[in-house]
Amino acid sequence: MDYLMIVNRFEPLEEGFEKRIKLAKVRGVYLEKQTALSLEKMLQDAQAGGIDIQVISGFRSADYQQLLWEREISKEMANGLDYRQAVKKTGETLALPHCSEHETGLAVDFAQKGEKDVGYGFACSSQSVWLERNAHRYGFILRYPRLKEHITGIAFEPWHYRYVGSESASIIKKSGICLEEFLDFYQDKYLFVTNRE
Ligand SMILES: [Zn+2]
Repeated sequence: MDYLMIVNRFEPLEEGFEKRIKLAKVRGVYLEKQTALSLEKMLQDAQAGGIDIQVISGFRSADYQQLLWEREISKEMANGLDYRQAVKKTGETLALPHCSEHETGLAVDFAQKGEKDVGYGFACSSQSVWLERNAHRYGFILRYPRLKEHITGIAFEPWHYRYVGSESASIIKKSGICLEEFLDFYQDKYLFVTNRE
């Protein structure tokens, strides 16, 4: 598994990628095995410090992403948008099938304890503050930060974290850069990180 892989609308996953991921179940969702182990450790440490973090979403198959996409388009069209407008609006918050990081098993969405879905209110929660301070130590980064939208191509998502390994995550966190910038600046220097299984 390449923990630094980029997946987006310009770099979709190849067909059948999901069959090669070693998945493990954690907190009611499936994630890539090492990601799942790191997540469990992180959530336990958070809990020990009085912070209960809810996991909303982990791995999604391409078929499920397709279903989510179609469901959202139908909803927007039922609300009066034409197909083009519905695609544009849906695309702001949902990735096309084969283009979501959730299909790699390396991405996880969080919420406050007891919440059923993700939301922007999470940004102000104690859970979010804890994650922003500590997630890098467990190999996770806030994948779509504020002010990096022009680089990631994705709006700020306070709930979406991505596993990249703790060495890369620490550099990304301390440098205040996003994954794309990290790959541009550091990939040659830190090539060893990308080759790790
Ligand atoms: Zn997400």
